[in-house]
Amino acid sequence: AHLDRIAAVDGAVGAFLHVDAEGVLAQARAVDDRRAAGEELGPLAGVPVAHKDVFTTRDMPTTAGSKILEGWRPPYDATITRRLREAGLVILGKTNMDEFAMGSSTENSAYRTTHNPWDLARIPGGSSGGSSAAVAAYEAPLATGTDTGGSIRQPAAVTGIVGAKPTYGGSSRYGIVAFASSLDTPGPFARNVLDAALLQDAFSGHDPMDSTSIDRPKPPVVEAARRADVAGLRVGVVKEFAGDGYQPGVSARFAEAVELLESLGAKVVEVSCPNFAHALPAYYLIAPSEASSNLARFDAMRYGLRVGDDGARSAEEVMALTRAAGFGPEVKRRIMLGTYALSSGYYDAYYGKAQQVRTLITRDFERAFEQVDVLVSPTTPTTAFPIGERADDPMAMYLADLCTIPSNLTGNAALSVPCGLADEDGLPVGLQIMAPVLADDRVYRVGAAVE
Ligand code: GLN
Repeated sequence: AHLDRIAAVDGAVGAFLHVDAEGVLAQARAVDDRRAAGEELGPLAGVPVAHKDVFTTRDMPTTAGSKILEGWRPPYDATITRRLREAGLVILGKTNMDEFAMGSSTENSAYRTTHNPWDLARIPGGSSGGSSAAVAAYEAPLATGTDTGGSIRQPAAVTGIVGAKPTYGGSSRYGIVAFASSLDTPGPFARNVLDAALLQDAFSGHDPMDSTSIDRPKPPVVEAARRADVAGLRVGVVKEFAGDGYQPGVSARFAEAVELLESLGAKVVEVSCPNFAHALPAYYLIAPSEASSNLARFDAMRYGLRVGDDGARSAEEVMALTRAAGFGPEVKRRIMLGTYALSSGYYDAYYGKAQQVRTLITRDFERAFEQVDVLVSPTTPTTAFPIGERADDPMAMYLADLCTIPSNLTGNAALSVPCGLADEDGLPVGLQIMAPVLADDRVYRVGAAVE
């Protein structure tokens, strides 16, 4: 049924980069065979999932949305991919994304434009916009994403679905094409909170292949999503995430969500996190710095594209020609920003300063979580914007992640859940719920109570 749905609507939505219908049916039959052989499979066995094209997959191409990886077939599965297969999920295909996960609209993909199913002239969010569009368009019931600065929560918010950024280190980065290694966090998309919890539970947990993986019991997210009550819970409204720059319809739905929490028995208080205002500039030094280092591996020798290798040119010339042709404009912008921020003489002033701001933001969270159990805010300041509107304005694009970035800088758990439609455009609005590191169960508990 999902393959039929993809065939019917994906020409217009553009969520997928790769679908192999025969391969999908073969995976489904293999799950039946495992069940017939008496294997105990988890609750998601046989359920289809759309997989972001940033996760390596042995039997499917992996491009990370970049021309530089066109045609690359990874020799191994990411840990998340392997765990999806072990749990018996059926991978429908690979979804479109901003090149190397850099963007908030999926317009930076080297391959295609993905359209928001609510209004095809609008963006589906990014960078995991293929995954959010696939779930919102009923092409898949579940999808994976990665969230480095908001790339699960923001696309979930603007397509009216649920998306979670687990605690950093709670879900493995092994086999994910790296963007900013201290921030990259894989997580789930679904159409309701319990489904998202089941998917997170299926693929998360300690992985010795990831040096930053946390060796602790997984937070009980499924139980929390089933519990779905907030009576007695202390909820903090982040004072700094309001005011100018927030679309009126977003602010109105957010205010109603807070009232709903109160009516369900939560104690709501206003909380100040003064350093959150500096999260965006700190992120745009740290993330490009790490990206410039991570992307050095695309050297025309080891992966994918190679340009100008005519026997007469030096390795350096081939490398330069390949990187010039293979990387898109946003990726080049990030590499240049990051290389500059890391260069000697500027390192302390930019990268070092950004790391200090990161510590201040961690302290803001710590102080806040002495007073409250969870924090809430709008997920993103506006609803889905028109395709093309911010494509030539990086600053406007970066603002889409204003509210999501603090949790990436500190590793906190966070989730976006739909909270209604904005009056002015009828488009979905997301409520963001944030909890301390390893308290992922709290964001699911609150999300399930208000959905
Ligand atoms: N939009 C942000 C960026 O471009 C975040 C992307 C992400 O979370 N992968 O860096």
